[in-house]
Amino acid sequence: MTKKEFKAESKRLLEMMVNSIYSQREIFLRELISNASDAIDKMYYRALTDDTIAFNQEDFFIRVSADRDARTLTIEDTGIGMNEEELERNLGTIAESGSLAFKKQTETEDGRDIIGQFGVGFYSAFMVADHVTVETKSAGQTEAFRWESNGTDGYTIEPGTKETTGTTITIKLKENTEDDSFDEFLEEHRLKQIVKKYSDFIRYPILMNVTVHEPKDDDSGETVEKHEEQTVNSMVPIWRKDKSELTDEDYENFYHEKHYGFDKPLRHVHIHVDGTIRYSSILYIPETTPFDYYSKEFEKGLELYSSGVLIMEKSPDLLPDYFSFVKGMVDSEDLSLNISREMLQHDRQLKLIAKNIKSKIKKELQSMLKNDRNNYETFFESFGRQLKFGVYNNFGQDKEELQDLLLFTSSNENKLVSLKEYTERMPEEQKYIYYASGDSVSRLEKLPQAELVKDKGFELLYFTEEVDEFAIKMMREYDGKEFKSVSSGDLGLESDEEKKEAEETASEHKELFAAMKDQLGTAVKDVRLSNRLKSHPVCLTAEGEVTIEMEKILAQMPE
Ligand code: ADP
Ligand code: MG
Repeated sequence: MTKKEFKAESKRLLEMMVNSIYSQREIFLRELISNASDAIDKMYYRALTDDTIAFNQEDFFIRVSADRDARTLTIEDTGIGMNEEELERNLGTIAESGSLAFKKQTETEDGRDIIGQFGVGFYSAFMVADHVTVETKSAGQTEAFRWESNGTDGYTIEPGTKETTGTTITIKLKENTEDDSFDEFLEEHRLKQIVKKYSDFIRYPILMNVTVHEPKDDDSGETVEKHEEQTVNSMVPIWRKDKSELTDEDYENFYHEKHYGFDKPLRHVHIHVDGTIRYSSILYIPETTPFDYYSKEFEKGLELYSSGVLIMEKSPDLLPDYFSFVKGMVDSEDLSLNISREMLQHDRQLKLIAKNIKSKIKKELQSMLKNDRNNYETFFESFGRQLKFGVYNNFGQDKEELQDLLLFTSSNENKLVSLKEYTERMPEEQKYIYYASGDSVSRLEKLPQAELVKDKGFELLYFTEEVDEFAIKMMREYDGKEFKSVSSGDLGLESDEEKKEAEETASEHKELFAAMKDQLGTAVKDVRLSNRLKSHPVCLTAEGEVTIEMEKILAQMPE
C-alpha cells in the first residue's frame, strides 16, 4: 500500500486561518513586529559566530510608517533578511517556521528570546491587507528579492532592488466597505497605541514618524507642528531589571503607565524565578477598591507576556479569586502558546506559575500584617471582604491559606484583631472564640447576650459584614478553638453546678414558660429560662448552626 500525502486547498486554508484564529485584527502588527525582532535577534546570533558580520547595536531597528494617500503601511527591519530559498520556504509554506528551526538549531540559551514558532503569524497581515510586498536582502548576500501576494492567488518571487540587509514589508490596506473601515491602521496615534500595547518591550527600537508640537521661536506662545522620528517602545522591560536598580517611584510609574489603577499601590512584589519554571513578575497590592470590584463586571487577571510580547491582557488563571485584587504582570519564555499566540495550550506551566504567585502574595500580605499594620488595615478595609469570601467559598478549602490574613473588629477598644492575636490573649478558662453578629458595632455593643461574655473579661468579635459569620462557619474552629455566637444556646460559661441549678429553677417554673409559649404561638419555637441575662429581661436565641443573623441573610438571598 502506498501512503499518500494529504492535499490541502491552500487558498481556503489560508483564508480560514487568517480569519478565524485571531480574535482581533490589530494583532497583525504584533506579528510582523515580532518577526522583525526575531530577524534582528538572528543577525545578532549570526554575528557571534561569523566574523564577517558586525553587530552594532545602533544599526538595528524596526520602522513602522504609514502612507495615507497610498493606503500603505510599511514595517521595515534591519534583521537577517531572507534569500530566495528562504522566502520560498518560510513565506511560501504555511506553518513553516524558520524561527523554530533556528531555535532548535542553536539549542542553547541563545535562542531563548526568539518569538516565532508556528509559521503562521506573517499571514495575519491578510486580515487587513489586499496585497503584501516583502522586499528582502539576506545578510552577506548581494542579491535582493521581492515576494508579493494578494493572499488568494498564490505568490510571486522576483529579483528585487533592496540595497541594505533586512526586510521591508509593505501592506496595501483593504478598501473600506460600508460597515468596515481599515483607516485606523493609517493613523499615527492608533499605530503607536498598538505598538505600545503589544510590542512595548521588544528589545530593539521601534521607530515611528510622529507629530510633535513645538513652541515657535518668537515667544508668541504659539506652537508649530513638526514631524520627528521617535522610538515609541520602552524596549527594556522594567521586570527584567534588577530590583536594586529600581526605586519605589519606578514601580509606581509602571503601575500608572500600565493603567493598573489610579491609586498609589500599597505594595509591590518583584519576582524573578529561574528554576524548573522561569518567569518574572511584578505584582501590586492596590490601596483602593475599584468601583466595580464587588460586581460581576470586575475581571480579575494579570497581564501575561511571552518573551516580552503581550499575549493576554488579563489572564484570570494566574490568580485565585480571593486574591483577585492583585494587579500586575507575568512574563515567561516557557509558555506553550496556541497557534494564535493569544492563549495557552497546556496550562501546566501556568498552573505552576500561579501556585508560585499565590504563595508570594500570601507571604507579602503576611509580612505586611506583621510589619506594616497601618497599611495592612488600609488594605483590609478595601479587600478584606474578598478574603472572607475566599474562606467561605469551596467549602472552606482555602481556610488554611487565608485564616491568618483575616481581621475582625473586637470588643477590645473596637480595634481590628487577627484570630491569632485573639487566641493568644485568651484567658485559660475561655473555651470558645466568641462573636456577635449584627448591623453595626454600636448595636452589637448593646446586645444583651454580649454582656455576660464581656463581664467574664472575654473578648468578643463583632461581625458586621454579612460574609463574616458564613466564613467562620466554614472554618469551624481556629487553632483548636471553636467559634461561638453569643446568641447560641450554650455559651459554655457556666460550671456544672450552675447548670444544674438553672435546670431546677426551670422545672419549677415549667407552667409559666408553657403559658408564655402558648401566647406567642408559632413566633417562637420554645421559651426557656436564661441565666446569662443581666440588665435585660429577655433575649432571642437561635437553635443549631444557623444564627438569627444568618437566617435574615439567607431569607434575603434569591432562590
Ligand atoms: P513564525 O514567526 O511563527 O515562525 P511567521 O509566519 O510569522 O511564523 O513567519 C514565518 C517565517 O518567515 C519566520 O519563521 C521567519 O523565518 C521568516 N520571516 C518572517 N518575517 C521575517 C523578517 N521580517 N525577516 C526575516 N525572516 C522573516
Ligand atoms: Mg512570526
